Amino acid sequence: MDKRIFLASPHMSDEGYELEYIKDAFNKNWIAPLGENVNEFEKAVKDYTGAASTVALSAGTAALHLSMLLAGVGRGDMVFCQDLTFSASANPIAYMGAEAVYIDSERDTWNMDPEALKKAFELYGRPKAVVVVHLYGTPARMEEICAICREHDVPLIEDAAEALGSDYKGRKCGTFGKFGALSFNGNKIITTSGGGMLLCENESDAKHALKLATQAREPFPWYQHEEIGYNYRLSNISAGIGRGQMRVLEKRVERKREICETYEKAFTDLPLEISPCLPDSRANRWLSTVLLKADCGVTPTQIIDALQAENMEARHVWKPMHLQPVFADCRFVQVAEKSVADDLFNRGVCLPSDTKMTPEEQQEVIRIVRKVFEQI
Ligand SMILES: *Cc1c(COP(=O)(O)O)cnc(C)c1O
Repeated sequence: MDKRIFLASPHMSDEGYELEYIKDAFNKNWIAPLGENVNEFEKAVKDYTGAASTVALSAGTAALHLSMLLAGVGRGDMVFCQDLTFSASANPIAYMGAEAVYIDSERDTWNMDPEALKKAFELYGRPKAVVVVHLYGTPARMEEICAICREHDVPLIEDAAEALGSDYKGRKCGTFGKFGALSFNGNKIITTSGGGMLLCENESDAKHALKLATQAREPFPWYQHEEIGYNYRLSNISAGIGRGQMRVLEKRVERKREICETYEKAFTDLPLEISPCLPDSRANRWLSTVLLKADCGVTPTQIIDALQAENMEARHVWKPMHLQPVFADCRFVQVAEKSVADDLFNRGVCLPSDTKMTPEEQQEVIRIVRKVFEQI
């Protein structure tokens, strides 16, 4: 195909809302990391998710970093973190000079296994924080994970970077933890070209986060600093894009879910399954992801290469953190005999899930995937 089909690409509203908010910022000369768009974008995400407080930031990674700071994670501390994830979930632990203990996944959500989390507490005692991720927009087993964290009185940091619009038992992902992180990177379900948001359970934490994100200025008539600050605030221009994108978020979720359903129906006779989701969860299906049956004769690489040859973008599932050379010395806790995260990595494929992909283009993707199986 001439036109590339993406995994996920920016998709601005047909109505041009984003540009209107940007123009407004230009007209008022609010080309700064503050302004009406920033405030209104925070409010829109707060209203949509039901979070107690929201702070707009320059990246999802910044939201995770500030979560670590607010949770009091320090040098030499231990943090339990989901193993199967993107490195941005784990890097902030290293920024703090803390040590991650990686927790294996379970089959029903691909996310943190509550049993493995329990085992980590038994083996290593109480960490400073726990980081759970809703991979590809699929909600983790929040009831069990929240209960374990509550029992041990450990702050839960929820990496909901991929899960804006997903919910678990009727409650939005990102609002379960003491801290939640959203991302508006270019490939996420909505984008501000780059950006993130911190969701806080407590107003006081949100206030502190805002101060840390704006160079930690104290309320004095001169520049007074009593702690180390960061430059993590979102620009008023980017926030304008975010405001416009929030108006089409539900449409994007609907379309993502439709794309996933179409794959599911098209592949019923193939030796693969769509990534599972708990019955009382609603996944935003940011990326449609499939798991190839063991020994089915087709590998993720074969599918990815076949799609690539047709100018269609597909990828492996995230490579587990405990297998990453940079985290080679870390500890890893599993309950299954063989690591579930390793198995998902070895057999998983993320398929083109772009909301700009037409139904005809998706049929082409399906045709190419089916062809790989016909050739074995
Ligand atoms: C994208 C992503 C992040 C980081 O967000 P940025 O806005 O790119 O910094 C963190 N965690 C996960 C799971 C992600 O997919």
